[in-house]
Amino acid sequence: MSKVIFFGVPAHGHINPTLEVVKELVRRGEEVIYYGSAEFRSRITGTGAVYKEYPFSSWEDITKFDNNFPLLFRRISEITDKMLDELIKDVREYRPEYIIHDSLALWGKIIAHVLDKPAVCSTTTFAFNREFVSVFDEFTVSIKDFIFMHAGHLIAGKRIQNKLAKKYGMKMQSYVNTFISTFMNMEALNIVYTTRELQPRSEAFDGSYIFVGPSIGQRDEAALTVPEDKKVIYVSLGTINNEEEGFYNLCVEAFRDIDAAVIMSIGSRVNKDALNSIPENFMIRNTVPQLEVLSKADVFVTHGGMNSTSEGIYFGVPLIVIPKQGEQEIVAKRVEECGLGIYLRSVTVETLRNSIKEVLNNGAYKDKVINMSDNMKSAGGYTRAVDEIMNYKGRRTL
Ligand code: UDP
Repeated sequence: MSKVIFFGVPAHGHINPTLEVVKELVRRGEEVIYYGSAEFRSRITGTGAVYKEYPFSSWEDITKFDNNFPLLFRRISEITDKMLDELIKDVREYRPEYIIHDSLALWGKIIAHVLDKPAVCSTTTFAFNREFVSVFDEFTVSIKDFIFMHAGHLIAGKRIQNKLAKKYGMKMQSYVNTFISTFMNMEALNIVYTTRELQPRSEAFDGSYIFVGPSIGQRDEAALTVPEDKKVIYVSLGTINNEEEGFYNLCVEAFRDIDAAVIMSIGSRVNKDALNSIPENFMIRNTVPQLEVLSKADVFVTHGGMNSTSEGIYFGVPLIVIPKQGEQEIVAKRVEECGLGIYLRSVTVETLRNSIKEVLNNGAYKDKVINMSDNMKSAGGYTRAVDEIMNYKGRRTL
């Protein structure tokens, strides 16, 4: 049995896939101490891990950054600076054999370096590196212009990281490498919860990247009765950028006369009563048991969050993707390239209605999704992730 510290990033999309991994680590006898925020406390302790609260609480700074990656870079640098000394003290006391950290948890990578611990990076988005940046080429604002517009954040973030590098005896990196590695704090072992088939530019990632597919297990959630006698359209914009009353109203208009049941998850910030008159065929909730709904859905209208996308594909559901921020555009583009659904660039009542008809009537989407779903199921999920972690630990701690 070994002691391991898990530095998470407290957001549903970052926490969900890791819970099964942690449960499996505990099942195999590991003692896991998991850093998170109060919102996730019971789900973390439910895995058998010991919950530890970060000495920081404004996690929205990281999860809601309005598509401004230079700002996110600065915030991750600032948060790391704020927490680092206290976390290093904790880790010295706990004396773990190894560390697992989220790909955004810069502090985890620095702590592993400072205390000379083997570390594993847990990546809940697509994997990201220098070559991958070319995926951004075709976006409306070029990455260079964008960086120029936000130079102040880049300079501030880099200054902090230079200070930390000096303080903790780490190699000083170039601007570009510091920027990129802040979003993908790679280690000798990098677990990615998608498949090589879905990952763009997958050839750019060496054998230290293990693509285990989505980490899907049983979730302890209230059940929802999903109609069995009709096609089911499931709509969700995830848990972060979901304050979109206008979009939900468009869905109400687009799908009111459709011969299908519509399940719409609107998040906790929108009031159901504020939406236009809700038709009979709609079931609207602040949150739904998504895995259960997807297991019965025929089409998923999604924001293209990595987890939602993978979960949809895993359950063989074609997607209509309406991205809300940068990395979701990459997901949307990849869904389109792989023929798994439609990247809906212009969202109107008409385009929504037409895309649903297209996806329901053209069996090619379903065939491709089923194929990708088979791929995902054979990628190994959380069990393979833990096999790889245990192997790596064995090699590194002998
Ligand atoms: N989710 C859920 N019920 C809902 C909406 C979302 O269980 O009503 C879960 C979903 O299964 C997924 C996570 O929340 O695991 C959302 O993560 P994703 O990466 O898709 O998007 P984010 O919320 O990070 O934008």
